[in-house]
Amino acid sequence: MNNHIKKMLRITDDNLNLISTEEANINGMNTLIIKGTYSPMPSACKNCHSSIVDREGNSIIVKNGKKEVTIRLLPYQNLPTILKLKKQRFYCRKCCHHWTAQCSIVEKNCHISKFTTLKILELLTEKISMTLIAKLCQVSLTTVLRVLKSVETQLPHQLKPRRFPEVLMVDEFRSHATNEDKMSFICADGKTGELVDILPSRKLDKLTVYFNRTPLEERKKVKFLVTDMNAAYFQLTKKVFPTAGVIIDRFHVIKHLNTAFNEFRVREMKVLISENKKSEANKLKTNWKFLLKNQLTISISEFKTWRSFPSPKYPLLTESMMIDRLLSFSPNLKEAYDSFQLLTYHFRNKDADSFFELLKNLPNSLDRLFKDKLKNLLVYETGIRNALLYDFSNGKIEAKNTHIKTLKRVSYGFKSFSNMRIRIFLINGLIKIK
Ligand SMILES: [Zn+2]
Repeated sequence: MNNHIKKMLRITDDNLNLISTEEANINGMNTLIIKGTYSPMPSACKNCHSSIVDREGNSIIVKNGKKEVTIRLLPYQNLPTILKLKKQRFYCRKCCHHWTAQCSIVEKNCHISKFTTLKILELLTEKISMTLIAKLCQVSLTTVLRVLKSVETQLPHQLKPRRFPEVLMVDEFRSHATNEDKMSFICADGKTGELVDILPSRKLDKLTVYFNRTPLEERKKVKFLVTDMNAAYFQLTKKVFPTAGVIIDRFHVIKHLNTAFNEFRVREMKVLISENKKSEANKLKTNWKFLLKNQLTISISEFKTWRSFPSPKYPLLTESMMIDRLLSFSPNLKEAYDSFQLLTYHFRNKDADSFFELLKNLPNSLDRLFKDKLKNLLVYETGIRNALLYDFSNGKIEAKNTHIKTLKRVSYGFKSFSNMRIRIFLINGLIKIK
């Protein structure tokens, strides 16, 4: 019987004997209590290295009572399960040293079984809260935190010089890690998408110190830095990656163009309202998405009714005709729309020359604020040209940021940045669970 129960509990230690099992109420919870003893043969004294018996055959190491410990096992058949184990104590007659036998199912000074530790680690790689993990494994939150901390040594060490990938994606995410900086820094390999590191602050001086720990030789191997239009990262390239080129993430260029156009549309709507054309302004508001749509995907053949142009009152229109109607409300918007669409067209076609040619020679009649906003992109010409030339984008890092957001949401925020850092590495599979 003893052996069957041991097999079910996956206990392989021969010196461990199970005596009884019973159910009892502990802290208001029905709990399965397994009782056992652990009594291995005496071993040589760890203190004075005396052997078990001396030359005359007298015992030196003797058994000296038992010590009962409570070990938390994984729930069995949904029942919280504990092992009350009486461990053999030994005494060395020569040096008066006492010790307790160490059992292989738990780590030293630990009260949860190795299987429980493994289960906790496994659950830590999932996007669930630590409170839930504690509940599932029937341990305290402190235990979960301790298990999390135990793998910290496997993280890329911040103080040790390290290698960086040829293409380094950098980005930031909202973490509220420190009081001085709400945003944290994340970087990943641009080719594989593998997480490189996350740092509590995105401030330039902190980043410079961090990257400068790596010898210049290694840093020179970084060929490209993929980033959004954040001037700080340009400074970073100059300071710590002197041989790297900057690639502006393509998504952010499109976003910039969209924002410029949207802002202008809102200004034009205000003009319409001031001219008592509230209905027109509203139609522009409701249909803003259609104006940003890639012209190549706009339908010119399917006639239907539209929310802003309902059927009996208006004839059936194609998507393209509907957009023309919207633009007819404001000639200025129509002009801006044409420039905006042509710019995005060249950009999507990866035609850098046409894109910058147009950007440098925007029509004079175009709204000044709109034009200025577009012309901001000229500052990043090299980076944008690189973006159209090389196929790297920040897409993979944006996906990681989404993971972090999910994790933050399920955990109701993070109290400690270092704990979050360990979990992000765990979730990304960068810490191997043994
Ligand atoms: Zn001894």
